[in-house]
Amino acid sequence: MNLEQLNQEYHCFNIIQDLQEKEEGKLKGLKISVKDSICVKDMESAAGSKMLEGYKPVFHATAVQKVLNEGATIIGKTSQDCFGFGSFSMNTGIGFSQPLNPIDKTRVTGGSSGGSACLTKLADFDHVSFGESTGGSIACPAAYCGVVGFTPTYGRISRYGLIDYGNSLDKLGLIAKTVKQCAEVLEIVAGHDEKDSTSIDAPVDQYTKFLNKDIKGLKIGIIKESLQEGIESEVKAAFELTINKLKDKGAIVEEVSLPLTFKYGISVYYLIAMCEASTNLAKLCGIRYGAEEKPEGNFNEYFSKVRSENFNEEAKRRIILGTFARMSGFRDAYYIKAAKIRTLIINEYKELFKNYDVLVSPTMPNVAPKIEDVKKLTPLQNYMMDVLVCGPNLAGLPHISIPVGEQTLPIGFMIMGDHLQESKIIQVASEVEK
Ligand code: GLN
Repeated sequence: MNLEQLNQEYHCFNIIQDLQEKEEGKLKGLKISVKDSICVKDMESAAGSKMLEGYKPVFHATAVQKVLNEGATIIGKTSQDCFGFGSFSMNTGIGFSQPLNPIDKTRVTGGSSGGSACLTKLADFDHVSFGESTGGSIACPAAYCGVVGFTPTYGRISRYGLIDYGNSLDKLGLIAKTVKQCAEVLEIVAGHDEKDSTSIDAPVDQYTKFLNKDIKGLKIGIIKESLQEGIESEVKAAFELTINKLKDKGAIVEEVSLPLTFKYGISVYYLIAMCEASTNLAKLCGIRYGAEEKPEGNFNEYFSKVRSENFNEEAKRRIILGTFARMSGFRDAYYIKAAKIRTLIINEYKELFKNYDVLVSPTMPNVAPKIEDVKKLTPLQNYMMDVLVCGPNLAGLPHISIPVGEQTLPIGFMIMGDHLQESKIIQVASEVEK
């Protein structure tokens, strides 16, 4: 397959560039594409933004280094929503093209790891993509493009070398054609990293052992709220068909409820994500970091100019909202309150995991929407699309989206596990995949 041609048609890459450091290893022959927000040494890594145009890291992200050590080849940086801000990959940075859905070019890929999911669907070679999820950016595009999207427990894969969106939420994860590929690469990239203070120091399972393992007797909870209003009928039908298959295989399936998560999840997620994003972007002011301009005027004039010209509208919106919500006088009412409710949401999931091995829901309430329809959405309507994916991300839970059903446009089935229970979701996912 000619990657240049493919990119001209679908815009899934920001940069096509090969890098191999070792010939031998467990991942020999595997090609890995990397979301633009993940650092690859000497390869422009701009998180899809004009602000970081030309930035070439002097180091590899830990996950990148680990796959290179095992003989994998990096093939380039994939396109994304600028800084990870978006659910459709339509919020690309100034000067970047948006990726197109690999099944229907009039539709979106989902976001923010849209380029990764698009390329994964189209690749006719052994390939896995590194994606990133703060609030659903792996599961969403995987569902819309018909591929497997795996997001680990927060801290299970090192964040070292990931350009921050929201530090308490960001996870590096995997997009692949099969669950097996995810399990194989996860075994390599998971694990403690002293360069990331939030990385978990716990043993890494042999995830591949859980592929094709019997699911008889496993307890699965269907999240009731995920099937209520706003869900497209074909998504519901494909979901229910999969549930019946799982029951046939001997799983015990019951309905469960997450009232708090569904009532407050979106608001809490966007408050926390924007607060963290606004602090992270503060350093990009054209002095030490970020685009540079001709030094003119005083400091305020200079950095206002740099930030006005190089941030797109959505980044500016998030900087303003996030800064407001953590400002003195407002932080108790917004940021602190959101952080407290986040803890209650985590507890709500934890209660369910006392009785259930995994929880399931559709990944997205719809099939990939048309580009023209997304253009008509208000920012709030955009944010609401994350209703099913923001919960597990807020709680730092591992989750996987698997394509299900036989319809032309892909539909994602999402499996969520308790912290560090990646093996269980791989076990159930490999059954769903059959
Ligand atoms: N759609 C969410 C947002 O815009 C998720 C982004 C992400 O996971 N990077 O914040």
